[in-house]
Amino acid sequence: MSNYFIFQDIIHKKTPSNIVYQDQYITAFEDIKPKAPIHILIVPNIFIASSNDINIENKNILADMFYVAINIAKNKNIHQTGYRIIVNCNKHGGQEIDYLHMHLLGGKKLSKL
Ligand code: AMP
Repeated sequence: MSNYFIFQDIIHKKTPSNIVYQDQYITAFEDIKPKAPIHILIVPNIFIASSNDINIENKNILADMFYVAINIAKNKNIHQTGYRIIVNCNKHGGQEIDYLHMHLLGGKKLSKL
């Protein structure tokens, strides 16, 4: 069963979460099970299931998501030490939530991929 509603409910504030940024297009919130001292998820406000669903019409959202992620990294002052941005896709990519999201990870030296 699809679980996209988890992030949809966070965007619409029906589920509590620590939202660190929100505008007309993007919401960013703290990951509930952080894998690094800073672990933020960045999602589009419009529903997109995975990176496979990016098309000519909605592709600009990726630039918006990246831009928000980079600005959060700067606000949290991890931009000099560095950070990682990840998008998991489907089973082999390790995507658990069926709603396109970007992970921003930092605040420690991350293990090599
Ligand atoms: P992925 O494996 O790429 O689909 O990542 C999904 C992420 O969503 C995981 O890191 C989870 O810890 C996180 N997550 C799941 N439910 C919530 C929630 N209610 N609030 C914040 N993060 C969540």
